[in-house]
Amino acid sequence: MSDWVQTACILCECNCGIEVQLDGRRLERIRGDKAHPGSQGYTCNKAMRLDRYQNGPHRLTSPMRRRPDGSYEEIDWETAIAAIAAGFKGIAEEHGGESILYYGGGGQGNHLGGSYSGAFLRALGSKYRSSALAQEKTGEGWVEHSLYGSHTRGEFEHAEVAVFVGKNPWMSQSFPRARVVLREISRDPERSMIVIDPVVTDTAKLADFHLRVRPGTDAWCLAAMVGVLVQEDLVDHGFLAAHVSGAEVVLERFAQVDVAGYADHCQVDEALIRAAARRIAGAESVSVFEDLGIQQGPNSTLCSYVNRMLWILTGNFGNPGGMHLHTSFVNLFRDRTIRRTPVTGERILAGLVPCNVIPDEILTDHPKRFRAMIVESSNPAHSLADSPRFRKAFEALDLVLVIDVAMTETARQADYVLPAASQYEKAEATFFNFEFPDNTFHLRRPLLQPPPGTLPEAEIWARLVRSLDLGVVDDTELARLREAAGESRQAYAEAFARATTENPMLSRLAPYVLYETLGPTLPDGLESAAAIWGLAHRCAMTYPEAVRRAGHADGNELFDAILDSPSGVTFTRDEYGHDFERIVHPDKRIALALPEMLAELATLGDGPVRRTTDRLPIVLSVGERRSFTANDIFRDPGWRKRDADGALRVSADDARRVGLVDGGRARVTTARGSAEATVEVSDAMLAGHASLPNGFGLDYTGKDGETIVPGVAPNSLTSSDWRDAFAGTPWHKHVPARIEPVGG
Ligand code: SF4
Repeated sequence: MSDWVQTACILCECNCGIEVQLDGRRLERIRGDKAHPGSQGYTCNKAMRLDRYQNGPHRLTSPMRRRPDGSYEEIDWETAIAAIAAGFKGIAEEHGGESILYYGGGGQGNHLGGSYSGAFLRALGSKYRSSALAQEKTGEGWVEHSLYGSHTRGEFEHAEVAVFVGKNPWMSQSFPRARVVLREISRDPERSMIVIDPVVTDTAKLADFHLRVRPGTDAWCLAAMVGVLVQEDLVDHGFLAAHVSGAEVVLERFAQVDVAGYADHCQVDEALIRAAARRIAGAESVSVFEDLGIQQGPNSTLCSYVNRMLWILTGNFGNPGGMHLHTSFVNLFRDRTIRRTPVTGERILAGLVPCNVIPDEILTDHPKRFRAMIVESSNPAHSLADSPRFRKAFEALDLVLVIDVAMTETARQADYVLPAASQYEKAEATFFNFEFPDNTFHLRRPLLQPPPGTLPEAEIWARLVRSLDLGVVDDTELARLREAAGESRQAYAEAFARATTENPMLSRLAPYVLYETLGPTLPDGLESAAAIWGLAHRCAMTYPEAVRRAGHADGNELFDAILDSPSGVTFTRDEYGHDFERIVHPDKRIALALPEMLAELATLGDGPVRRTTDRLPIVLSVGERRSFTANDIFRDPGWRKRDADGALRVSADDARRVGLVDGGRARVTTARGSAEATVEVSDAMLAGHASLPNGFGLDYTGKDGETIVPGVAPNSLTSSDWRDAFAGTPWHKHVPARIEPVGG
């Protein structure tokens, strides 16, 4: 057995630090890493099962090429790289680089590989991209950009009142040591937790106020709460006068909200709504977290807007325990330009094509349609709405490349599949760094050598760029940079600045140039950390004081601290109140009145639209997080100790009404498809509401070569045109469905 080695769990955005003892290639023992500055030894149950990710029999160990009959053959790397580079170059020459769509770039905790894709894509002129963020966070991202310019996060550890809107952090975590923090809040009589959710989640069970909204009516509940704040004059006028513009129009709109009527629409007791709003107004500090429960339901962008009124109108910004404009190691939402997609003209928010419109951008004879796709460490054929239609879209493309560790559902639609090293076989890092006041970054070292035949993404992208043979990067320029990298960080910084000034193309291809020149001088196995040097410099330039307060004089020092800290490093240390300087508007005020959102707010007066029908009377929420669900990278179903089938949760009322029994089987039918599931009758569900978990429906080859498909693939039931009108995010939490007993 090896010594304990530091790395991180990769199953949710927290990426808790863990330590692993290896037995050969097995992750034999796993425990929380107390030295990790963010998670401090915390893990949930899921991290203990990571060997099933690393050592499942699903690995690809050779590049694969699709034959005309649809089967795949192994080919060598040289042939694959040459054919792929030539294929994409040909498409860019014939149809323009913008006809090549890039999707993915890494899921929870593996963002480093994807950061190398930029050089190849820029060289081709590709400018459209998308990822799973575009089916969750783009509406929220747009609201945040418009209000103050960047992503906020609550300081739940110190908040007097924590508010969770469509969010169950007991299961979905999302902030450091979530369960510890939730328990602390629930046990402290001086603090309160408010949960807005139709389901009695594990978090709701700990809450002081559970506003159990009727599914799809969160906007009415939130607007009623804000209405109470305004109508009972519980707003912080001093804060609004000092830090907010456009408050008058917003106050006037919420003054007109019919609180009693809205309470009735969302079926939450008006007295409870008033009590929760008053508790927020009376608190020293409030932190709010919204998540998929509202981001994937009706009025999702409006809900993102209105829930921010809870903390902006009460002055909970920049204060201890309040909301903060945190630093970012890489700003995932930095693209603030709203563009339009080339075929359907849908909004592109945060630089990401809405996932649900991708098939419409392909399945057309429009001259600007996407002709080719590159998918990296993602599985859109499984994880995006309407999988059958997505598969058709893939078939219509001229060229598809997938880079992944396994022959995923998406890889099986590809012309070429390139096998990547796993997350524990290369340097890796997450760019989900959202903490305040200390923000942390963790460069993980490889635990294991990649198996023969696989390569880290940085090397794959470098080979593809080389094969394009652009003639814009001179070998002498690279040699000079390599020499400087061997001398010192400072010499390299100066040489890099000089080289990119003389040849701006080097700057456009920066990830490739860094990998080729700085990479070889880095410690063994950390070559692909080279891109972090550039990111560390950008971070130090963006937040010079916060980086210095964390103990790093400049980008070079920060980079070296990252390399030297196997458990992660604090890269910025913030001070309260600095948030106001980060507001992007010239007057450094929150711009509260967003005309698009106020227009939608006005429509709430008509009451909720019924989206179910007599034929499809149940609201089905797909993608629920549970104790044994994880993202799609976890293909081996053997990791689950419970809920092996991913049960369909239904209320006792619905079970009685349609004749379902606990443990029995049911057929779920939507406008898009139909599937069979095991039933769990649960008090957590309201009548008329059912749920299916995430991470199921992936196929897997069992010990005897048999194919196993546990549970329901949620996107066999969802439709791509069922989405938010503003952001295009899917309504996965509000799918009209019918449920019947099998054989009934
Ligand atoms: S699943 Fe998330 S919270 Fe649980 S150990 Fe992994 S990273 Fe931490």
